[in-house]
Amino acid sequence: MSQFRLSRRPDIGGRIGVSFEFFPPKSDDMERRLWETVTRLAPLKPRFVSVTYGAGGSTRERTARTVRRILQETSLTPAAHLTCVDADRESVDGVIAEFVAMGVRRFVALRGDPREGVGARYRPHPQGYTNGAELTAALKARGDFDISVSAYPEKHPESSDFATDIDMLKRKVDNGATRAITQFFFDNDLYERYVERARRAGIYIPIVPGILPVHNFAQVANFAGRCGAHVPVWLAERFEGLENDPQTHALVASAVAAEQVLDLVERGVDDFHFYTMNRADLVFAICHMIGIRAASEAEMRPAAA
Ligand code: FAD
Repeated sequence: MSQFRLSRRPDIGGRIGVSFEFFPPKSDDMERRLWETVTRLAPLKPRFVSVTYGAGGSTRERTARTVRRILQETSLTPAAHLTCVDADRESVDGVIAEFVAMGVRRFVALRGDPREGVGARYRPHPQGYTNGAELTAALKARGDFDISVSAYPEKHPESSDFATDIDMLKRKVDNGATRAITQFFFDNDLYERYVERARRAGIYIPIVPGILPVHNFAQVANFAGRCGAHVPVWLAERFEGLENDPQTHALVASAVAAEQVLDLVERGVDDFHFYTMNRADLVFAICHMIGIRAASEAEMRPAAA
């Protein structure tokens, strides 16, 4: 079995990189939980941690506060998500300037979903950036930033076909994107096929798989349906009957995510982005399984000047 082969490879942790995604907390309680999560995951030395941005700038202040706190209180490198929803260019440029003044050099550039939610018709702001590709160009014009963009192994629901979808990704790359992070998916063949399509189209930036540990299957299935991600029957069967059994649900979720990630490692993937949902345990366990070990406190201390 692949798992046992992998666990004997001593170098595996050294070549695998991870990044973690958080969302800005809405309450003191959520803030406390986020900070416990950040503190637990920081010793895994992610390449960066990203903080999401709500539709229409609804989390503008909270995203900025979270990013600032990461910069001030940790040795982590933050990446700020940005969206174009309901905002003119001037206000998006203002948000960019605010992050840059803070010391942010990494961004995740997105169009975003309509304020009414996933599935509603998207209408760009008449004076705004129309999509992730335009926002990427705007960022690139302001500095040599590290810019991640989205990619969709099952194509974005608004793309009429894969060629259109890949064309949009190509536009983002041509405008300066350095990395694509995928929407979550559960079938690794879909990811592999998408990467092959992108390479054939001349896209050579890393296309990092976005991994969503299934903390709550019912919620994930619902969300997946709205954003065009396929939930395989075998996955539904794994969680069947566990609605009121959180302990077993968590164990199964851990096994499912580990299986997915280890299979991707076998296929040569060496970079992973985790949608943490501001929770540490499952992500920590999966990172451990791919050989990533927590740095000691001494290693975490900033080097003396
Ligand atoms: P784009 O890639 O710009 O466009 C999506 C699709 O719309 C295109 O593939 C194309 O089909 C169509 N399209 C766009 N422009 C045109 C055009 N001019 N002509 C024709 N077709 C066009 N959402 C948030 O609100 N906040 C976040 O922080 C956030 N973070 C995310 C992080 C990742 C890694 C991912 C994968 C998604 C994230 N999302 C976030 C969700 C994202 O905003 C939605 O999936 C949204 O529907 C599309 O945004 P995008 O940047 O992928 O759009």
